[in-house]
This record gives sequence, structure tokens and C-alpha cells, in this order.
Amino acid sequence: MKINNKIIRFSGILLSFILLILFASVCVAQEDNFRGLREQMVRTQLKTRGIDNEKVLDAFRNVERHRFVLPRYVSMAYRDSPLPIEEGQTISQPYIVAYMTQALKLVKEDKVLEIGTGSGYQAAILAEIVDSVYTIEIFEELGKKAKTLFNELGYDNIYTKIGDGYKGWPAHAPFDAIIVTAAPSNIPESLKNQLAEGGRMIIPVGGDAVQELVLLKNKNGKIKQQSVLPVRFVPMISEEGEKY
Ligand code: SAH
Repeated sequence: MKINNKIIRFSGILLSFILLILFASVCVAQEDNFRGLREQMVRTQLKTRGIDNEKVLDAFRNVERHRFVLPRYVSMAYRDSPLPIEEGQTISQPYIVAYMTQALKLVKEDKVLEIGTGSGYQAAILAEIVDSVYTIEIFEELGKKAKTLFNELGYDNIYTKIGDGYKGWPAHAPFDAIIVTAAPSNIPESLKNQLAEGGRMIIPVGGDAVQELVLLKNKNGKIKQQSVLPVRFVPMISEEGEKY
């Protein structure tokens, strides 16, 4: 009787151990699979379209995009497309995130402001490259969720805020770079005023159907701007839900 009990207990422990090993190997295999998908994304979606800044490419290799999408889209996380997130918003297409990041010509010491935290993916890409990232989201739920994820992933250089990014973040201005990921009809003066000397800003501007990505540079106190790409972003909205 006693021996039987011992055998049953031992088999139980052995079975749990085997299951644990199996589970761990499935997790490792899945992580390897995602790493492979990221490398493929870098090669086929970014390098082929002119993204050649190694710091930007490395950030795309490192950031686990599948952690930033809704559970039902995890298998599509590395596709060449935007994906829906909560509150009717979107996580942008990897190429657009890369294009905007590369256009800002970032260096490690830069302090960057992002308007439109959304999933947090763009902020994480920036945080791999620069010392500090300030990001503002108007929807409380999105902002809170992104903040929790940044903590989980160990990003201690991302500072989050819930509020209207149209006004920028004066307490931490000026910024070396500003990236706007929701489209207003005109470029907010408040954001221009928060650009440091030598600072760069990239922002989608326009209506619902047609928008241009505009790159601005603040040189010797004068702002020069140029349109660089036609794009389609969600609208920038006020706290009352009106489009800017
Ligand atoms: N950068 C995001 C893209 C999110 S889409 C990512 O990597 O996933 C744009 C985001 O801008 C949305 O989450 C939307 O809620 C937010 N947004 C719109 N108007 C805003 C405003 N005035 N201030 C701050 N965020 C705003």
C-alpha cells in the first residue's frame, strides 16, 4: 500500500516535470519563431524600401511587436500592414513606423516626444534608440495599458501621460524630436514651439481621406518643412472628441 502511494506520488511529480519541460520548449520554440518573423520583416518590408539605419533596423529586430497587438492578431503581428487596437485606433504598419523613425535622424542623447501612444509600439522602438521618450495618449484605457506593458518589458526610459497631445508637453520641452501618429488638419503651433534648436518633427497632416507626412526642421530659429509621403492615419482629436 505504502509503496503504491509512493509510486503514484513519484509518477505525479514526474508527469508535472515532463509537462513543464514540454511547455517551456513550446515557449522557446514560439519565441524563436517570432524572432525569425522579425528578421524576415526587417529584410522584406524595411530594407527593400530604403530603411538602412542600423539603429532603426536593430530596434525592429528587438521589439516584440506581437506583445503590442490584440491577442486575436498575434499571428498577424509581423505582417506588412496596420492592425486594429482598442478604441477604434490602429497600430501603424511597420514600414511607416520605421520610415518616421529614420526620418528623425535620432542620436542616443535625444529627448523625443510622441503624440498618440496607442499600442505603445512606436514608443518602444524609439526607446531602443534614444535616452528618453515622452508619449501622450488621449484615451485613458490605451495610455494605461501601454504604461503597464512598458513596465513589464522593462522600458524605464518611457514617460507616459494621458491627455491632449495637441498642446505638447511644455513641462519637458524643448524636444530634439517630435513624432505625431494621429493626423490634425494643420500643424499645431504649440508643437512647433516645443522643438529644440536643430530639432526635427514628423507629422501626418490633412483630412480623413488624404494626408501628407510632413517633416519639419528647426534651424537657427527658423522652421523649414517638406512633404515626404502620402499616408493615412487616424485623426487627431480633442478631449471632446472633435477632429483637430
Ligand atoms: N503610435 C501608435 C499609433 C497609434 S494610432 C502605435 O505605435 O501604436 C494614434 C493614436 O493617437 C491613437 O491611440 C489615438 O487615440 C491617439 N490620439 C488621437 N488624438 C490624440 C491627441 N489629441 N492627443 C494624444 N493622443 C491622441
